[in-house]
Amino acid sequence: MPSTLRTAVMAGGIALISLPAIAEEVNLYSYRQPELLAPLTEAFTEETGIKVNVAHLDKGMVERLQAEGDRSPADLVFTVDISRLNAVVEAGLTQPVTSDVLTANIPAAYHDPDGHWWGLTTRSRIVYASKDRVADGEVTTYEDLADPKWKDRICIRSGTNAYNVALVSAMIHHHGEEATKTWLEGVKANLARKPQGNDRAQVKAIWAGECDISVGNTYYMGKMLEDEEQKEWADSVRIVFPTFENAGAHMNISGVAMTKAAPNKENALKMMEFLSSPKAQEIYAEANYEYPVAPGSEPAELVKSWGDFTPDDTNLMELAKLRPQALQLIQSVDFDG
Ligand code: FE
Repeated sequence: MPSTLRTAVMAGGIALISLPAIAEEVNLYSYRQPELLAPLTEAFTEETGIKVNVAHLDKGMVERLQAEGDRSPADLVFTVDISRLNAVVEAGLTQPVTSDVLTANIPAAYHDPDGHWWGLTTRSRIVYASKDRVADGEVTTYEDLADPKWKDRICIRSGTNAYNVALVSAMIHHHGEEATKTWLEGVKANLARKPQGNDRAQVKAIWAGECDISVGNTYYMGKMLEDEEQKEWADSVRIVFPTFENAGAHMNISGVAMTKAAPNKENALKMMEFLSSPKAQEIYAEANYEYPVAPGSEPAELVKSWGDFTPDDTNLMELAKLRPQALQLIQSVDFDG
């Protein structure tokens, strides 16, 4: 099948015919924006001659793969957040991948021990602190966010957002459910307003004087700086990398998984290995102000300027497993209420 037709089939939704495996192609389903993947898919094609077809999805990845079943043209899925990656795995839609190249390039914390998902870049969930109203060293740990000294000073998005659920999962991993519940109640008592908006909206609220610190992902600093209106918000805060009291900074990933039905398995593995190379990780990370994970790779200058920190080395699978408990606790304290 000509690649243009194949792309049309993918873009049109569910493939109704069984697609023959074509040796020189690989098909991606991606929740990630086209501009993030394009530099890499182009470089991959240039190096290998393998054509890359990408279907960009806003939602419904699991449902689509389920509907397509064995006839799915998808070889690889791309998404952010361990819970979204794990949702595809738990639905039985992926296959384990073993590769010495992947194992060498991707630290143990950032891939499934069984090889069903592999992280390519990371982001930390950090504190944005008002330059004017928060002193250096005033906040150093996640646990500290429950301290009454922050009363009416914290802004955060909904507790049930995937980023916050992963953070709460990490808190459970380190301290257990009981202590995490107490922590959530403490943080809730410190909120300046009900959880609302996205991570950037919290920084805007600091800029507007509504709160003094917020919780957000690192790359939003870069995103805000490139936006004329939001640059002001970004300039009103500095990044603080909190750690857990007994561990490092909370990390999450963007990652890739090979589908169970992958028709171009060999090409898909080649692409995964290509993407895991330090150079490819650096390009992928730089496009969204994230951190490459390969030994010896470096983040972009701007990202580096936010400072050094110790990442939590908990395997993200541990956090994925705790997601139900985390959600339950967030709801039981009526965090958003
Ligand atoms: Fe995000």
